[in-house]
Amino acid sequence: MTKTFYPPHRVLMGPGPSDVSPRVLEALGRPTIGHLDPAFIGLMDDIKRLLQYAFQTENELTLPVSAPGSAGMEAVFVNLVQAGDKVIVCQNGAFGGRMKENVERCGGTAVMVSSEWGAAVDPGKVEEALLANPDAVAVAFVHAETSTGVRSDAKSLAALAHQHDCLAIVDAVTSLGGIELKVDEWEIDAIYSGTQKCLSCVPGISPVSFSPRAVERIKSRRERVQSWFLDMNLIMDYWGSGQKRSYHHTAPVNAMYALHEALSILEEEGLEQSWARHAQHHHTLVEGLEAMGLQMAVAKESRLPQLNAVKVPEGVDETAIRNALLSDWNLEIGAGLGPLAGQIWRIGLMGHSADATHVRLLMAALQDVLP
Ligand code: PLP
Repeated sequence: MTKTFYPPHRVLMGPGPSDVSPRVLEALGRPTIGHLDPAFIGLMDDIKRLLQYAFQTENELTLPVSAPGSAGMEAVFVNLVQAGDKVIVCQNGAFGGRMKENVERCGGTAVMVSSEWGAAVDPGKVEEALLANPDAVAVAFVHAETSTGVRSDAKSLAALAHQHDCLAIVDAVTSLGGIELKVDEWEIDAIYSGTQKCLSCVPGISPVSFSPRAVERIKSRRERVQSWFLDMNLIMDYWGSGQKRSYHHTAPVNAMYALHEALSILEEEGLEQSWARHAQHHHTLVEGLEAMGLQMAVAKESRLPQLNAVKVPEGVDETAIRNALLSDWNLEIGAGLGPLAGQIWRIGLMGHSADATHVRLLMAALQDVLP
């Protein structure tokens, strides 16, 4: 006999997903309509407008890919990288490594600029790589490295890319809505994000945006994009505005209701206010953790407010604490990855989870479960 699945009521303070607002969950349950219904087409236009606001861009090619952040990442690389292209890939955590994979699977060469896990991408090293590789076509980096809780200087890195006539490709999965991000002002050419972090929407959608320069590159490709599903030339006909929409795939209609609601919440609050709220609760959290004798793992100037990496104290069992938080407090935090496994906890204050109640709950829970 099949049984209905009822998830436990968790408080999500890990690396994502974050707690989803009840408004977003309610939107998800509204009646499904056809994805070419005129009412849905109107919704698509409004989602594009709201995404342009969230990304701070007027890029026409701004839309949600119907799949998670990894698909947004892949959409950017398969459209912009062709066989033989050289791309400078910055790696300071887990997700830069995935960019390398993507470049190589597109037949390109990834020139790696590696920084220690827990440090920001070093613009000096990126410049050296650009000088040594004048034939590079793009620079790719992660704005907010979720695996370590580090913010890199997207504005400077994008400017460097342009000085060397390269496209700037940015992973903003964890940054969108949580920290300052200005796609047009910083002249970012291609960017992808996720819905399950600071937008506090359900997982499974990836907002992307391409500058006119990037669109030009896509339209003048030598070869077809190897992925049919992610080929922006085809998706443009489905998500383009002011023209007849042609069927490409069936959009996840209800997930789009949820995304529209999450973006409307962001617009109501205001982008700057959302950045300020993340910063405010991050400061309270850090003060509280330090008062308990815990130490942050990342230097102050590179810390992400939405992803707080905390050192596991000597002699404390990292996994046992996380398990106790989950079983006794229904509270999820994240573990360290790669070289930081066992050494840090990752505490998310993302979107709907970035408020005073979450911070107080975590402090109380940690005091309870720490030896
Ligand atoms: N890039 C970064 C920085 C991420 O944090 C994540 C997910 O945590 C991804 C990419 C991949 O996104 P998804 O898990 O939605 O596919």
